[in-house]
Amino acid sequence: MDTVLIIGAGGVSNVTTQKCASLPDVFGRIVLASRTKKKCDAIAARVKKRYGRTITTAAVDADTPTAVAALIRKYKPSLVINIALPYQDLSIMEACLKTGVDYLDTANYEPKDKAKFEYKWQWAYRSKFKQKKIMALLGSGFDPGVSNVYCAYAQKHYFDEIHSVDIVDCNAGSHGKAFATNFNPEINIREVTAKGRYFEGGEWKLTDPLSVSRDFDFPEVGVKKMFLMYHEELESLAKNIKGLKRIRFWMTFGEQYLTHLRVLENVGMTRIDPVMYQGREIVPLQFLKAVLPDPGSLAENYTGKTCIGCVIEGVKNGQALRKFIYNVCDHAECYREVEAQAISYTTGVPAMIGAKLMLQGVWKKAGVLNMEELDPDPMMDDLNKYGLRWKTVDWAAAIE
Ligand code: NDP
Repeated sequence: MDTVLIIGAGGVSNVTTQKCASLPDVFGRIVLASRTKKKCDAIAARVKKRYGRTITTAAVDADTPTAVAALIRKYKPSLVINIALPYQDLSIMEACLKTGVDYLDTANYEPKDKAKFEYKWQWAYRSKFKQKKIMALLGSGFDPGVSNVYCAYAQKHYFDEIHSVDIVDCNAGSHGKAFATNFNPEINIREVTAKGRYFEGGEWKLTDPLSVSRDFDFPEVGVKKMFLMYHEELESLAKNIKGLKRIRFWMTFGEQYLTHLRVLENVGMTRIDPVMYQGREIVPLQFLKAVLPDPGSLAENYTGKTCIGCVIEGVKNGQALRKFIYNVCDHAECYREVEAQAISYTTGVPAMIGAKLMLQGVWKKAGVLNMEELDPDPMMDDLNKYGLRWKTVDWAAAIE
């Protein structure tokens, strides 16, 4: 029976831990550790109530590789699922390397003092993981994660050659708050206020933050304005999808969110450099996180749907095609199932599926891998089984 160590006890972890608990044949024992043990205990209580299973909880500072390694030695997991924050990726990978245990995460490493996310730091571990014959699966959430798997599936089943990919991410839900973020506020705001970046004609092009937008008619949601942003899966997909000429990422934002964000930026509240306040240093964005709603707490009254997918253009048998592969997820249904909102759900379910496929040996390769480097079929099957049904349609309208 496999033991899995889950690190982090936020909104995403609440979903992943419950989904793992629902599959006792795969996840024989679950250890949940995070900085604040009482958050682990709250998730454990939910698991007990819903699935009748007892999971072990522990406190850990995952910034310290030796602390994570000690926990691994104590509980001997086959796999560590990192759903803390991107800042912890390298220290947890380091601990996995020390102890010879597989690793999975949902977001790529970011240094705390620089809003810059790229794979170079984690890809630098490739040969070390290979030599140790262990696997690190990077970005097993929705985007990154399912978006990468959709592209791999399209490459395998629909196209001889893919020429362009547009990843479109819409949250058309309503949480009733004036301003809140759907996942960790610090990470979310760092991402949204960064410059846009996309790959075209063999080079990366930069745009000012949220300066490029398009209207898109999302299935089951309707027409929404979406904004071009940089997102980490663009980096690996630009390398791994053969013949790709252009790849972009788009996310929708409502006017109210954008107005609040603009004000917060203008008054300096999104800064990530320390400022002196009453004789001590504080980071404005970290302070802002402390006063914003906890994303997990939005779940109870959340209504509406998310729609996330990939519009993919290419050729098959000499014929030009455009397909849209997507999932629609309903906030209220997620709450009924696991007391979560759809953003946590769409991230937490693929983390469980990635872990399941690794533990079952279906996805087994030594090294550091992005999702599109593995056979997409087993994950596409499991997405349909475990709550994230997908659909492919021919898509008439090009995104200019
Ligand atoms: P939360 O902020 O809700 O949860 C993060 C958890 O990590 C908290 O329990 C926090 O502890 C814990 N943590 C933070 N620092 C440490 C540390 N040093 N040691 C141990 N535990 C720590 O975040 P979310 O659940 O919303 O997001 C989790 C991850 O999922 C993030 O990396 C996010 O970027 C990623 N994500 C990925 C998506 C995708 O589609 N790929 C989409 C959405 C999110 P404490 O409670 O004490 O603060």
